[in-house]
Amino acid sequence: MREVTVKQWKWANDPKLHKMELAKLEKDGLDVIDTIVNKYANEGYDSIESTDMDRFKWAGVYQQRPNNGHFMMRVRIPGGIITSEQGRALAEIAKDYGRDLVDVTTRQAIQFHWLTVETLPDIFERLAAVGLSSFEACGDCPRTIVGNPLAGIDPHEAFDTRELVAELEQFFLLNRDFSNLPRKYKMSISANQYNTGHAEINDLAFTPAKKVIDGQEVIGFHVWVGGGLSARPYMAQKLDVFCPQDEVVKVAAGVTTVFRDFGYREKRHYARLKYLVANWGVDKFKEELVKVTGPLESAGEDLYKGWNAGYFYGIHEQKQAGLYYAGLSVPVGRMNADELIQLAQLAETYGDGTIGTCNSQNVLIRNIPASKVEQFKQEPLIVNRFKLKPNTFVGYAVSCTGNEYCNLAIVETKERMRSLAEYLDDTVELDTPVRIHMVGCPNSCGQRQIADIGLQGALLKTDEGMISAFDVHVGGTLGLDQARFNQRLKARIEADRLGPFLAQLIGSYKEERIEGES
Ligand code: SF4
Repeated sequence: MREVTVKQWKWANDPKLHKMELAKLEKDGLDVIDTIVNKYANEGYDSIESTDMDRFKWAGVYQQRPNNGHFMMRVRIPGGIITSEQGRALAEIAKDYGRDLVDVTTRQAIQFHWLTVETLPDIFERLAAVGLSSFEACGDCPRTIVGNPLAGIDPHEAFDTRELVAELEQFFLLNRDFSNLPRKYKMSISANQYNTGHAEINDLAFTPAKKVIDGQEVIGFHVWVGGGLSARPYMAQKLDVFCPQDEVVKVAAGVTTVFRDFGYREKRHYARLKYLVANWGVDKFKEELVKVTGPLESAGEDLYKGWNAGYFYGIHEQKQAGLYYAGLSVPVGRMNADELIQLAQLAETYGDGTIGTCNSQNVLIRNIPASKVEQFKQEPLIVNRFKLKPNTFVGYAVSCTGNEYCNLAIVETKERMRSLAEYLDDTVELDTPVRIHMVGCPNSCGQRQIADIGLQGALLKTDEGMISAFDVHVGGTLGLDQARFNQRLKARIEADRLGPFLAQLIGSYKEERIEGES
């Protein structure tokens, strides 16, 4: 870990700082990692001080529901690519400590449940041994950097972003210059033309672009700032900046410095970068940014064309002739440890041993030679479980953790979304994918605002008391010049009536759509 230094932040004496800010000044979130390893893991759950419980997030660990001494952990998967060795290590952790559960999240991370504080040091060590980390996967700091799970093999990428993701990860992870930000901070970097990094919903995003500089065409990025979901969603806005590939770390550090030094720290619900960007506008933001970075090139030409929503089902040609990748469905992102071990085995047997994790909570296997494709398709795991061509609704169903494990949840989501999708597959015949995202509360970890149909958990008052229900939103999408959040319908639907309601809604779409309408 980097050396601890006492920071003299210019905002530290603001009398209106939120109490969480005072706690962060008293002890940096990253300091909790040592405390977990050297104290709490030995002395047990009851010894954990309540102020430190908040800081557990900087270790990538949250208290889970039920509150009986168990934790969930998020593991960073930078850019959504792991090796089979890393996959096996993750599976063994789930087997030994996490009741056999592995969730793929909407930010390409891996999530465990049911961990105890005593097991955390061993998990940290096992992750480090294979080059992974849970540190700063949560908390007010730079979280998992999302990207292109096809980087390096992608026929639709402007260039390979793997090294840049690694550089950014190395720069930000455990960097105490940036471990005390006003609020969570999400980055995305992808050179795929179809926005595999979901640029618009990140605090900072890089999308592919080109510009002629001194007579030479340079391929690099455009830079977007101030996106985020939760209760008040904002789309990121494009800065008038062209960023050559060798300036990515400088620009990312600059944007993060502006957020750190000028971001709001008085109200927790008004602290994300999106509020600063919305209030300042992009011109003032750039003015402050260049004070940190020095002069930057103005924007060039977008190489960003559309949005594939993070779906890659089927077998596809890579940019390398004779090699293919396989996009596989993991229903609602949940698998068990043995399935992950089998996936790692398939990645080695058929591919180059790498596995991609997608924002759609699915996975892919990379670098399969043409001669092995047919045999790969016959593998039982592929035929029966992680399908190349899933059913319409199961294949496009996304769910957050919900009240099974999440303390903030109002309703259950994971199992409900899975069975709802199966019901729709049995009931509605449709030739077009409909992306349905279910979330258990307004925090929107399941990214309901960008779904075709976004279902947000709520309660409904009935004669029998309060029951689980959902607000229904329609028409969300990302993509250059077309990004928009979905709109809420004027109805709150009881959870038990959701299936028939959606069957009717989708039936109306099927009847009335015009050609090409999503
Ligand atoms: Fe929990 Fe809400 Fe996030 Fe779902 S959206 S995982 S319920 S905080």
